[in-house]
Amino acid sequence: MTVKLSEKAKLIIDQLRNDGYQAFAVGGAVRDSLMGRKADDFDITTSAKPEQTKNTFSSFPVIETGIKHGTVTVLIENTPFEITTFRSEFGFSDLRHPDSVSFVTDIKEDLARRDFTMNAIAFSPYDGIVDPFSGYSDIQNKIIRTVGDPHQRFTEDALRILRALRFSAVLGFRIEENTRKAIFSLAENLKFVSAERIYVELKKLICGINAQAIINEYLPVLKAILPINGDYSNVHKLPKDHSMRFYCLFGASYKEALSILRADNKVKSVCNIISAAKPLPTNENALKLYISALGRENAKTVITYRKAMYDEDKDGIAESILNSGTPLFLTDLQIDGNDLTALGIKGKEIGETLQRLLVSVIIGEVANDKNALIEHLKNNNT
Ligand code: ATP
Ligand code: MG
Repeated sequence: MTVKLSEKAKLIIDQLRNDGYQAFAVGGAVRDSLMGRKADDFDITTSAKPEQTKNTFSSFPVIETGIKHGTVTVLIENTPFEITTFRSEFGFSDLRHPDSVSFVTDIKEDLARRDFTMNAIAFSPYDGIVDPFSGYSDIQNKIIRTVGDPHQRFTEDALRILRALRFSAVLGFRIEENTRKAIFSLAENLKFVSAERIYVELKKLICGINAQAIINEYLPVLKAILPINGDYSNVHKLPKDHSMRFYCLFGASYKEALSILRADNKVKSVCNIISAAKPLPTNENALKLYISALGRENAKTVITYRKAMYDEDKDGIAESILNSGTPLFLTDLQIDGNDLTALGIKGKEIGETLQRLLVSVIIGEVANDKNALIEHLKNNNT
């Protein structure tokens, strides 16, 4: 069992040690490295107080990220590293944040405040692995377990509930039984977590390799904060795209859910488009017109979604149309507004005429050729 530190993370540990402090890599990157995954985003924890850390790195750019809580960010050749003083946390009266923190001198005390055993492992090339809660064994057995009593740890900070589900979905680890029970009994506390944090976790959760199993098992937990009325047992059929998967999860309640989450406009727009979409036509020309009306990107989204969820377009005609280069959109037309102006067409008639010509081209009434299109216009003048 070993952790492969990046050169820069090692440099930070070395500098702190040279100044007489203890220093370790900790957190997600240590966990990922122990799992044999590539990890670069090492967080550093140290016995140096924030001011001392600043002095050690006085020749590097330093950002005072959360100096009161012990965190400074040091830029090593543009890579940011969060360096946090060993600390304990006390009193979680808002069920989310500690009321106070105090700096401590023992790495083990710092590890004790962390959420899960797999995230409570420290490493330095000089001290090796510090793993007082058997996180490594839990990693090997693919188990998510709180450090200490789950009921207490989830009561302190309800975000940890969602982190447990997210890690389980993304890493494919199972949640240890007592941890699982505490999640169910404290689900209502998720109401104290900010929309932003829920949104960040849920985006990761829903695209995890194990997302479907988590949704199936923990539906009541998610329902404590969000209205879920979709075809949620089919989320796994969709590609790993959080917008499409959100629509699938929330279904008819998607607007309310996205507003609770304060979702970004991109997600809202994808969900609106899927929600408004009609079944894909089976007739080829009708399908071309359908794609034309949606625009390329939206059509791709709708086709992907409806194929996956409703098994439409079994023959793959929609995709072959999109890839064929056949004219579908105004920009494909071999005639434009300037050409029509030259023919004496004015104002909003220009757009309408182009649209009519596009339909004629799509259904094969006329070739997509400038002269042919002009001829067609003259013959069909109304
Ligand atoms: P990721 O791979 O998503 O970055 P991570 O475990 O590194 O996962 P971070 O949010 O980057 O997660 O946090 C870094 C470390 O800080 C965690 O590994 C954990 O030790 C600790 N931590 C983060 N959030 C909490 C929390 N809400 N409660 C307790 N400890 C936490
Ligand atoms: Mg991290």
